[in-house]
Amino acid sequence: MRKRILVTGGAGFLGSHLCERLLNEGNDVICLDNYFTGSKQNIIHLINNPYFEIIRHDITMPVFLEVDEIYNLACPASPIHYQYNAIKTIKTSVMGSINMLGLAKRTNATILQASTSEVYGDPEIHPQVETCWGHVNPIGPRACYDEGKRCAESLFINYHRQNNVNIKIVRIFNTYGPRMHPNDGRVVSNFIMQALKNEDITIYGDGSQTRSFCYVDDLINAMILMMKTDKNFTGPVNIGNPGEFTILELAQKIIELTGSSSKIIYMPLPADDPTQRQPDISLSKEKLAWQPAISLETGLIKTIDYFKQLIRVCP
Ligand code: NAD
Ligand code: UDP
Repeated sequence: MRKRILVTGGAGFLGSHLCERLLNEGNDVICLDNYFTGSKQNIIHLINNPYFEIIRHDITMPVFLEVDEIYNLACPASPIHYQYNAIKTIKTSVMGSINMLGLAKRTNATILQASTSEVYGDPEIHPQVETCWGHVNPIGPRACYDEGKRCAESLFINYHRQNNVNIKIVRIFNTYGPRMHPNDGRVVSNFIMQALKNEDITIYGDGSQTRSFCYVDDLINAMILMMKTDKNFTGPVNIGNPGEFTILELAQKIIELTGSSSKIIYMPLPADDPTQRQPDISLSKEKLAWQPAISLETGLIKTIDYFKQLIRVCP
């Protein structure tokens, strides 16, 4: 049966891929977005589909709809965007979650929260397992995002315990791919844009900090599988690619794949920048029968192609 599915943040990077996939699977999709970091360009190819609807709305305000499932992705995700208006970021995670959980409760919809590896902060356990409680500075520059997402997880689990709302929590590790915002300051988009323009590649710190990069298609598969899990399984579950790379290795790989003449330069490390990040995905393997299939090199090639085309259209 055709389901009616709400995707908040549906005009963003991940949201637009999710809307596309859900439509392809024969669902009725409502994309809700305030266009803070998302854009109509990301979903323009879906607009003529009669089963696709778009609502310009801010999730910090209530919304009344009838839906079967909700994917709650609305929230700026890159450090420069979420720090631009820190209070608004907290409101989006906290008030937005309350509004979306209220909607789920009223409609009896299953609701999935796009949480983040940032709930682990600068992790004390490596790789990170879901049982880690996290090591987060509550008053640092990243706190508006990290603590907002932590509070959202707490809201989700309490709506489940107290009101029996069907919830799913996924903790997403760094994900990349086509439709990332070219100026969002995230490492993959920054390095590719710099390399394609033969500009200096800006490494913050000495480049020894690590991240694990998941290609968007793998992530979307996992989110959809998570939504389909048994009612009793709420998560949180880590979703990410365990392949761990230093930021210097990433810069070198992007220079190699683009054939760029860019030079690497070193700049100060931002405050509270986590030193290591790698998901333990045992739980997603067990509960979702999921693991990523796309290597960093394959994913980077697809992403580089996207940014090349973007530069050709808007140089
Ligand atoms: P994105 O910035 O491209 O997408 C976020 C979308 O939410 C944008 O379209 C934006 O306009 C919209 N939005 C922001 N505030 C809103 C509000 N108050 N009301 C309505 N819409 C609002 O980022 P993304 O990478 O696609 O991330 C999507 C979700 O996944 C976020 O919740 C993010 O925290 C989470 N996540 C992403 C990553 C990643 O690596 N991409 C990692 C961890 C978690
Ligand atoms: N980073 C970097 N140069 C850049 C952008 C980011 O060295 O131009 C580093 C950043 O300091 C961090 C890592 O790359 O250590 C990942 O940064 P991103 O903002 O993509 O994600 P997050 O820190 O949230 O994982």
